[in-house]
Amino acid sequence: MATDQQSAPEGVGEFYDRITDVYAQVWGSNIHVGYWADAEDHTPIEQATERLTGLLVDRLAPEPDQHVLDVGCGIGQPAITLARSSGASVTGISVSGHQVARATERAREAGLGDRVRFQRADANDLPFPDASFDAAWAVESLIHMPDKDRALREVARVLRPGARLAIADMFHQPGTDLSYRGIVETVGIDEYRGMLERAGLIPLDVTDITERTRIPEPIKEAFRRRLLERAEEFLPTVGQEVYDQLRDPSSDVFDHPGFGYVLATARREAAT
Ligand code: SAH
Repeated sequence: MATDQQSAPEGVGEFYDRITDVYAQVWGSNIHVGYWADAEDHTPIEQATERLTGLLVDRLAPEPDQHVLDVGCGIGQPAITLARSSGASVTGISVSGHQVARATERAREAGLGDRVRFQRADANDLPFPDASFDAAWAVESLIHMPDKDRALREVARVLRPGARLAIADMFHQPGTDLSYRGIVETVGIDEYRGMLERAGLIPLDVTDITERTRIPEPIKEAFRRRLLERAEEFLPTVGQEVYDQLRDPSSDVFDHPGFGYVLATARREAAT
């Protein structure tokens, strides 16, 4: 529905303005899943989420003189890691003004203020010229965009011909739906190739990494302890229902049967 789509970025921006600080306190500065080898891999959340970023850096492999677009930048940790490990410059966008302010501050503190910049912008309507980026990624941000075709067309437009896009996101298993209050809208993994192609992108690979993102038991336990310690800050922000689900060891909130996670890479078609 057109009205829902128009109001979505504002709603998502308000959601992240509200939740980002408390989220970062309990999960860390990457607002995305972790990557674990298996249930016996007890790597803490902060390192496991950095590992996911590392996989995406490898997929984009930008050159030091290149400029990368980070679609949905959170508080800037993925952009900082990308810039540090590759030498590339990054422009990150978010619909949350609070995130943009925190990300800007964090990049400055990391000594990367000249190469890593952030601004408030909507992926559905990017304030950048055609073919102005050498690569882009969207890490757990497309999930917030009801009109994914439109957002992907916009990203494709600002990529130069031949440039790469990497996507990391949740998807829903067949017959399920993880959509949530107009803030989250999931698709199935089978829809990825078509979405990329309709945007003028050539899919290079679409990989289901759901099993690698499952949080090993001891790590889940440590996360629950942190939540309990910070209940006073956390509870008013997320509400009693979500808080109870997160702290209840018998709830399936971390192992929801509908949950899936995809890594996808695509290339912008060459100019014809
Ligand atoms: N990629 C970051 C943050 C993921 S959270 C990380 O991995 O840490 C989702 C991000 O997507 C938030 O920064 C949110 O503001 C952004 N986002 C959601 N909808 C957006 C839109 N329409 N345009 C730009 N950014 C959007």
